[in-house]
Amino acid sequence: MKAFAYVNPSNESDALAALRSGGIVRPLGGGQDLLARLKDYLDEPDRLVSVKGALNREAAATGDGGLRIGAAMRLFEVAEHPEILKRYPALAEAASTVGSPQIRHQGTVGGNLNQRPRCWYFRQEEFVCFKKGGNRCFAADGENQYHSIFGNDGPSKIVHPSSLAVPLVAYGARFRLASASGEREVAAADYFTLPSMQTVQKENVLADDELLTHVILPAPGNVRSGHYEVRFKESRDWPMAFATVVLAMNGPSIDSARVVLGAVAPVPWRAEDAERVLRGRLLDDAAADVAGEAAVRGAKPLAQNAYKIRITRTAVKRAVLAAAGRSV
Ligand SMILES: Cc1cc2nc3c(=O)[nH]c(=O)nc-3n(C[C@H](O)[C@H](O)[C@H](O)COP(=O)(O)OP(=O)(O)OC[C@H]3O[C@@H](n4cnc5c(N)ncnc54)[C@H](O)[C@@H]3O)c2cc1C
Ligand code: SF4
Repeated sequence: MKAFAYVNPSNESDALAALRSGGIVRPLGGGQDLLARLKDYLDEPDRLVSVKGALNREAAATGDGGLRIGAAMRLFEVAEHPEILKRYPALAEAASTVGSPQIRHQGTVGGNLNQRPRCWYFRQEEFVCFKKGGNRCFAADGENQYHSIFGNDGPSKIVHPSSLAVPLVAYGARFRLASASGEREVAAADYFTLPSMQTVQKENVLADDELLTHVILPAPGNVRSGHYEVRFKESRDWPMAFATVVLAMNGPSIDSARVVLGAVAPVPWRAEDAERVLRGRLLDDAAADVAGEAAVRGAKPLAQNAYKIRITRTAVKRAVLAAAGRSV
């Protein structure tokens, strides 16, 4: 591994200054992804800036009834936080299923949202694909059973790896990004980017000298939410397909819906057809069925991943049933 300097700032502004200190600099959260990339020679920074002691680790109420979560919060804390469990249960559930207890105790919110893809070609030094500055995608006509079935038209066929990203898009969260020159807020739905030839080496809009410092959740209002992940039996690995649904209710009827799919596209994928068919319906078994069918309309599987259509349909159906309070 290439030698690197380690910086351990105690506040946000020192961390942001350190990101501009020259050479290749990477923020370090719990290191669950970044340290593995270093060991596999995928990333060779000159400097690591630990953000665990520099960024906020709390979840605090906002003035308008929402919740502001610091990017240094650990995943187990998200899973166990009483306000998150009560008001944003799909987020707590997504955090509770990440990896193993050890990974959830080390992994941070900021690191989870900014982790790099799991594509096995990307993770091996020898395969210099588009994402690493090469001129081909090895998955396009290679081993693509865990790759995307939506958003496939670009140069990379990855699926976005973050479990938290999907409920955050579904709840309409925003991210605070900061650099030494200022700060900005971006909707979670606009943070993650589909790959084009110009953007294929990144998965989001974060600049090299910026940090994701907070996740800001809006007041939930009268919503019911559900989350369902399809995994290999008892697996600690990433899910094969999953879904979060957030339903704004009007009595027993669904006023509006957000249905977001995970592990099926290079970004958390809004299933807009499913959202449309849920609008105005009673929240019952039939609604779950039609939402599952609609969610997979327009899927374009690769040679080896057509099975994902079926499990995605199941994930959506069960997420709707979970939102209805049914055991799934
Ligand atoms: C066996 C296994 C199973 C896993 N299963 C899942 C799963 O089911 N779902 C899932 O979502 N993840 C899963 N993971 C991944 C793991 O949860 C994430 O890698 C972890 O959450 C990353 O958090 P971290 O703080 O350790 O990130 P780090 O490794 O420290 O950082 C990850 C990336 O984010 C950047 N970064 C860190 N903090 C910030 C910040 N505040 N602002 C901007 N950039 C930042 C780093 O530079 C780095 O590029 C699994 C990992 C393993 C090993
Ligand atoms: S899917 Fe993306 S990361 Fe994987 S080989 Fe293709 S270009 Fe590389």
